[in-house]
Amino acid sequence: MTHPEVDSERPLPDPTDPSVNDLFSSQEAAEACRFLLMRLDSPPTTAEWLARSQQVFGKSNVQSQRRLREVRSHFVVQSRRRTGDGKWIYQLLGWKKAASAAVKISARLQAEAFGKKGRFCQMCGRGPQDGIRLQIDHIAPESWGGKTVYSNLEPLCEEHNHGKQAFFASLDAFGPAIGRALPRPTPWERIGELLISFQEMGKSTPVELIELVAQDTHKGDPKKRLRELRFILGWDIVAHRRKTDGVTEVTYERRRKERKTAEHAATKSD
Ligand SMILES: [Zn+2]
Repeated sequence: MTHPEVDSERPLPDPTDPSVNDLFSSQEAAEACRFLLMRLDSPPTTAEWLARSQQVFGKSNVQSQRRLREVRSHFVVQSRRRTGDGKWIYQLLGWKKAASAAVKISARLQAEAFGKKGRFCQMCGRGPQDGIRLQIDHIAPESWGGKTVYSNLEPLCEEHNHGKQAFFASLDAFGPAIGRALPRPTPWERIGELLISFQEMGKSTPVELIELVAQDTHKGDPKKRLRELRFILGWDIVAHRRKTDGVTEVTYERRRKERKTAEHAATKSD
């Protein structure tokens, strides 16, 4: 009776294993994960989870939900009612399967993605007319919180699909930051949240990730949204360009903290 998303081949780490830290961008998420690993046999209730979170970090409910989402980017954590008293508990079931194996994209969704985005690779424009096979792939990977819905799917040729997967794998440490940004309702907030997460890590944000969280909507244009964050909110966002082996790497860095939040850009610009 294993959960379909659980990788049953992979043994769970010991709660004291230092490698748990490497999975997360924040100490808090690592602590949350350790707590669930310690309580495998007696999963904590929602109340115990919040109490622990407050005791360790003095943080509110919102923060503890965010930690749970981060833990869920690597592990399957089930919330369910406990038999007996009916209290909600969080039970860590195991490692999450690698994204490619986790969810199959239904034929209907694939047809919808081809229908709306066209039968060509979204990166090079090649398709069946050039003898190239296309694959429907997640734009934001599932392991980073991307959903299996039409708006998060795109046709790619095999070459670009593999290239993208390799590129994302190299950025996997930032998965939790993307997982944090994606659920935000507007492109300003998604980009803003991503810049803040990278700022907290002392890093500059790759432009590819900004494009990824901006998403394909009428307001998704990342360049315009960055300009609005700069001029409407006065955020100090600096672009860096670095050329390595003939490839120009573009990253954006948010320099200092401002009190205005990205929600303001959404209201000002509407
Ligand atoms: Zn291609």
